[in-house]
Order: sequence, then C-alpha cells, then structure tokens
Amino acid sequence: MNARAKTGKAAVRPAQADGPVIYDSTLRDGAQALGVTFSQPGKIRFAHLMDEFGVPYLEGGFAGSNERDMQFFRDAAKERFSQIRLVAFGATRRVGGSCKDDPLVQALLKAGTPAAAIYGKAWKLHVAEVLRTSEAENLDMISETVAHLRGHGRTVHFDAEHFFDGYKDDPEYALEAVGRAFEAGAESVTLCDTNGGTLPHEIFAVVSAVRGRFPDDLIGIHAHNDCGLAVANPLEAFRAGARMVQGCMNGFGERAGNANLTTIIPALQLKLGAAAVPPEKLATPRPLSRAVADLANQRPDPRAPYVGDAAFSHKAGTHVSGVRRNPATFEHVPPESVGNERHVVLSELSGASNVLYRLKQAGAGAADLSRDEVKRIVRELKEREAEGYSFESADASFRILVQKALRAHKPFFELEGFRVIVEKRGGGQPCLSEATVKIRVGDHAEITAGESVNGPVDALDKALRKALSQFYPEIAKIVLTDFRVRILDPKEATGATTRVLIESTDGEKRWGTVGVSPNLIEAAWQALLDSVEYKLLGSARAPERPSRRRAR
Ligand SMILES: [Zn+2]
Repeated sequence: MNARAKTGKAAVRPAQADGPVIYDSTLRDGAQALGVTFSQPGKIRFAHLMDEFGVPYLEGGFAGSNERDMQFFRDAAKERFSQIRLVAFGATRRVGGSCKDDPLVQALLKAGTPAAAIYGKAWKLHVAEVLRTSEAENLDMISETVAHLRGHGRTVHFDAEHFFDGYKDDPEYALEAVGRAFEAGAESVTLCDTNGGTLPHEIFAVVSAVRGRFPDDLIGIHAHNDCGLAVANPLEAFRAGARMVQGCMNGFGERAGNANLTTIIPALQLKLGAAAVPPEKLATPRPLSRAVADLANQRPDPRAPYVGDAAFSHKAGTHVSGVRRNPATFEHVPPESVGNERHVVLSELSGASNVLYRLKQAGAGAADLSRDEVKRIVRELKEREAEGYSFESADASFRILVQKALRAHKPFFELEGFRVIVEKRGGGQPCLSEATVKIRVGDHAEITAGESVNGPVDALDKALRKALSQFYPEIAKIVLTDFRVRILDPKEATGATTRVLIESTDGEKRWGTVGVSPNLIEAAWQALLDSVEYKLLGSARAPERPSRRRAR
C-alpha cells in the first residue's frame, strides 16, 4: 500500500489554495550562522512566535547530532502549538546498512516530532565521491529511509541535496531520486541549491521540468545566498510551480546565509498575490524580525528589505518632498503593510522639506512656522551636524534643538556644575564611580551625589535625577535603556570627538538623545540632560516646591 495514502497529502494546508507552504529552518540551518545562538528557552519562544505568525512547518534541529537539539524536541513536546508542525532533521540511512540499525534514523524517530526531514543525494558526483557507493544503492537509501519513517507514522520531507548541480550533470538520475522519494511516501521533495550557486533563470527552468514530471506532488525549494540570490531563487521556483518554500528568519544561515523568509513572505504576498501566511498576519514581519534578532543575539540589520530601520527612510530632500505629496513616489509598498513605518532621515542632504516633515510627524505645528523660522532650524541643524551630532535616532534632541532655534526653549533648571571621580582600590576591587551634581531650580539650589559600579555616566545619571526629582517627581520614572558611544575621528584616537547616543523610556514612551564632545563624560552628560528635558517638555508644568528646601 502506498504509505502516503494512509494519512493523505492534505495534512498541512497553505494559507490559500495553491499558495506557498512555508517551511522554517531557522533553528537548524539558520542556527549554523556565524554568531547566531539561541538559548533553549529562546528556541521555544521562537517556535511560538512562528506558530502565531502562521508558519506550518518548523525544523527544530538535527536529530541525533547533538544533545541540545534533542533537548529542544523534548521541551517542545510539552508545549501547545495551535498549528505549527515540528520537523526533526536527519539523513538517509548509511551505505550498506539498514534503517532499524541506523543511529541517526532512529534518532529521527526518538525526536517524537510529527514530521521528519531527511536529506539525500541527487548528484552522481556526490554518490561516487562522497558516499562512495553505487547509483542504485543511493536510490535504495532514499526509498528505504522514507518508507521506514512513513511506516512509523511520520510525515516525511525529502531534501534533494545539490539538486541543481545534479540535474545539470544528469537530469534523469536527479529526477529518479525525486521519484523514489515520492513513491516511498514523501509528502514533499525539496530541491536544494546547497552551495547557492544557481541563477534564477536556471532555477525556473529546472523547477519547471521537475514540476512537469511530478505535476501532482509538492515540490519545495531550499536556497542559499552565496550569489545574493536566495530571495530571487525561491520566487522563481514558486513561479515555476514549487509550492514549499524553505528559509530562515532574517536570512540567518551558514556562509552568506539562507533564503530570507522576512523578505520572501512579503514578496510572495504583496508582489505575487500568494498568501504565505494568513493575510492578517502580514503586518508582523518587522516586529517578528526584531524579536528573532533579539533571541539570536544579533543586531537587527538596518538595511533589511521591508523590515529594516532604513527600509522606508528618506534622506534626500527631493525624495522627502515627493513622499510628503504622495508616498507612492518613492515607496514600493506602504510601510504599514509589513509592520514598518516611514522615517525621514535628517542629514546634510536635508533641507527645509525634511525638517517640515519631521516636525509634522512629531506633532509640532509645522504649519505655524514662518519661512524664516524654518530656515533658522535648518541652519542650526546643519551646524550641529557639522560638529558631529546625529539626530537620526535622537528625536528628543531634535525637538529640543527646534525649541532652541525658535528661542522658545525655557530651561527647567540651571546647571552650576558637576564632578566625577573614578576610583579603583586594588586589582581585585570593582571600579567605583562617584558623581556630584549642583543644579538650581528658581531660587533653590541642590547638590546631590550618586554612586555606581556601572561607570561614571550611571553615577552622573543617578545624581542628576536625585537632584531633580525633588522638583519634578516624574523624573524618577526614566530608565536608560541603551547607551552607544561612537568615536567620530578614530585617526586622532583619544583626541577625537565622541558622540554618545542614549535611549530612555518612562515605561510608556521611548526617546533618543545625543551629545557630542571631545570628552566622553561631557557628551554623555549632554545626552542625559536632553533626555530629562524632553521628559519635562512632555509634562510641561511648573516645578513642585521641594519638600526639603536648601535655598542658598
Ligand atoms: Zn541549507
């Protein structure tokens, strides 16, 4: 009896009839990327995120290759998923052996997942040189392993390794490998461009030929990015009739990476009208991509298509005025369609239109400004940028700059001075920082000290907030969430200018501020001041009378 007939082929439905079936390999192929690491709880969290996203298949790891991957399968078995099917990855049985004595095939069963994926050879060169066996034995290894796993109730996916090279070498043999997997009951056969060297037109031609031979079966594509084509190739494969698309979130993977699902899914959905995930989930790629980057301990790529910070950023003045009139002038899809947002970058290229747009976005009545006022803001901005300031992720400092340029800035307090001491009492001791801050609010002066083992900036922050919270209790809610230091002219080493970017939150809003100085502490201090001022601007009210007055 055909093993496939037992459970039928419709176990997993794409989001739309004849739409793509997404197969995520982030935890297996993606986790092999340089610098990518997932903790065990992180992997479980990832599986839930993909489940919510509406991805049907998730490859959890290489069964039997290491204890960590097996642990994932044990942990995942205790979780409840609404639709995702976990897949354990492995290989065809060994040359000359039997499936029931093969430790890796048995590990696939031990993983306890509803589905198993095995890779096998479709290229005669690999059969002869890597397996060192006969072409017939290789085909038997495929049939027997698929049938064995099917016999144990697993849905089986067969990955035909180096398929495109194999097809170029001997199309009949490569097709025979595919046919043997289907005959033995494989749910899908995925054509792998294992070394990432195939071009899109070749992908289209070969997938079309395979589709011609197996018109009713589920054909998949597994692409690598060695030629920068790991998005283009799956799209061509899909157009040629492949319906399973394998890939990794954020394009994680060995060498130049895997097919990037964060790009492919929106492209399938928005460009080819093929629902890869339920349509209501499409607005999640950006937050999802960032969550995955966090889980993998990677910085999000700002230039990532669709989901990156820069994907809908406009910098050149003419682009900005175009987007203001009609976003379609410089945007291929609306940023909201993938959960991203339009961002207007301030830079030396930006002119008045850029500033106006940013003001409007920040809700600061740009319409009320005269031409002269706008010119003043632009001039101020350019001067600051020439000194090394960067306002691209420092919206709060930008708002304060505008206030100052318009001479509408009323300081909430005056600084009389600060002092920072850094002390280390012996090799094994922590480095202690102590800061003293002297401020004046109206008639009241305040001197406070702050201490920290986390460095002088933290000590300064503590001292400043202690001083100010007497007058402005809401200051206590501010938490610094990020602190980034850039040396602007590295050639001059310690003589160089330092730019400090700080991110703060009060639990509801987030804002960024910037400071620049040859002195790191002073640069940080400026960014701290802007952060506090911005918070006070938001609440915009008179200071409270301090309970403990220390008028001088
Ligand atoms: Zn791969």
